[in-house]
Amino acid sequence: MGRKMTDREFIQRFDDALEKGYIYANYQAQINHSTGRMLGAEALMRWEDPELGKQSPADFIPVLEKNGLIYRADLYMFDEVCRFHDRCRKEGIQLIPISVNMSRFDIYNNNYIDSIEEIRKKYDIPVKYLRIEVTESSAIGGMELVSSVLSRLHSLGYIVEMDDFGSGYSSLNILKDLMVDIIKLDMIFIRGDIGGRGGTILSSIIQMAKWLDTPIIAEGVETIELADHLKSIGCNYIQGYLYSKPIGADDFIEYIKTIKHEPINVSISILNSLDSGRFWDPESMETLIFSNFAGPAAIFVYDKSDSSAEILRVNKKYIQEIGAGRTEKEFFENSPWDNHDEESRRDYENTILRAIESGDEESCETWRSICTDICGEEKICVKSNIRLIGRGGDKYLFYSMVRNITREKERLNDLVESDMRFRQAFEQANVYAWEVDVATREMKPCFRCMRDLHLPPLVKNYPEPAIEAEIFPPETADMYRDMMNKLIAGAGSMEAIIPLTVGRVPFHVRYTTEFDENGKPLKLYGSATLVVDSESSE
Ligand code: C2E
Ligand code: CA
Ligand code: CA
Repeated sequence: MGRKMTDREFIQRFDDALEKGYIYANYQAQINHSTGRMLGAEALMRWEDPELGKQSPADFIPVLEKNGLIYRADLYMFDEVCRFHDRCRKEGIQLIPISVNMSRFDIYNNNYIDSIEEIRKKYDIPVKYLRIEVTESSAIGGMELVSSVLSRLHSLGYIVEMDDFGSGYSSLNILKDLMVDIIKLDMIFIRGDIGGRGGTILSSIIQMAKWLDTPIIAEGVETIELADHLKSIGCNYIQGYLYSKPIGADDFIEYIKTIKHEPINVSISILNSLDSGRFWDPESMETLIFSNFAGPAAIFVYDKSDSSAEILRVNKKYIQEIGAGRTEKEFFENSPWDNHDEESRRDYENTILRAIESGDEESCETWRSICTDICGEEKICVKSNIRLIGRGGDKYLFYSMVRNITREKERLNDLVESDMRFRQAFEQANVYAWEVDVATREMKPCFRCMRDLHLPPLVKNYPEPAIEAEIFPPETADMYRDMMNKLIAGAGSMEAIIPLTVGRVPFHVRYTTEFDENGKPLKLYGSATLVVDSESSE
């Protein structure tokens, strides 16, 4: 009774099929052949027409792609998968990561990522339970475009799988340039030829994935012989009829209940064409440069899922710069967060998140308290410039260059403090006081001046703004300018009676000058006291 639908029928019936649920998801398990545990599943689109029966994705997917309908179909699938997770959660069933297919045509749709995020948030599904499968052919539209889509997915925490790897399109280059977390290898491209050329290709792809530290899932595995062979050459992850065909949601839930689950360990892949193997190799040029020619630096890993951090490597200069008596071992044994108080940690984590988002170098200054047997408790301030150099799943690898800026910070603090003391002292002494820097003509008033005369902490181009604000009577302005000029010329000290404040009360204004070692005026110290007060106290 069923028959294959025509292209026209696919297009005409599409809306109806979405609405009535003739289009839906099947799930196919991904299994670790060594442990028998489930790693996740792939959601595959199904279309069963009530009159014409089951249709093959090989027929309808290309039609949907050609007619601009695949975008809606893919979002519908994403929604289905989130709904499936939601159902599992409500029924108390273990959630497992499910891969969703992203058509290469979705790459051109700027809204794809925003849309899936909206759906994910609608159901409140943690991103680790959703993976995105892209195909090599996505790169046809240009590497920059796919790269930017992938890095955006990554920054949101999605794991990305490269589907149908090895089916064409200069695979090696693509792997080098695109950041994918998992490779899917379709056995169709190798089928039936394990002993010959196909076998050579297979083992070299697996070898290469090992170098890149990228897990491989072999797809379309139907026999135990093939699964065993794959295992013998280092590929344990299997998706195929051997374990399970794609099945409906109800059946799949029953399947999940019977099987144990384990995560795929996506390792950290090094960005920016750094070769990961060499990077960790103690004899390599990269290590040599890190240890001997770079400034104080560390490599650390940050886990976005639980905000934890771990230092993986430090160079000697790093220990000299901010070690504060700690040994290299202590850096590895303790969490770097141990030394941060809540505020510093927040500052540092925000910088990490900025660096993930921007892909650029970001910096922050944070205080840390370090406790060692030798030095006791010590506080140091560290300026860190950090850059993302790799990622895998929720884990992000960073290169951090540091500088110990404790001395600079302390000097600054001293300055700020002495400034405070100066301003406060006069508050208590019933005197208005201020200082004028001769070179810059900047005036710093005491608290009382700031409050009663409404002055800012720093007045530039003194005394003009004070004259303009009529802090003293306009007719005294020229006299006051003249007084300033004489002081700047080296008069040493001057005084005058000037009516001040709103009430124009007579004040005794006095100036004394501080000179540098060559006798040039540096600073003018001004004070104003009430005439009666000062007269009686003298
Ligand atoms: P794919 O993404 O490579 O999906 C794997 C295909 O291999 C599925 O075919 C699956 O049923 C089949 N398969 C899995 N294990 C075995 C096995 O052991 N033996 C054999 N002979 N086949 C196996 P399916 O479901 O017919 O899907 C075909 C293609 O249609 C998919 O290939 C994918 O490219 C596309 N597709 C499926 N669902 C979606 C979707 O939601 N969105 C998009 N854009 N494309 C989809
Ligand atoms: Ca797929
Ligand atoms: Ca595939």
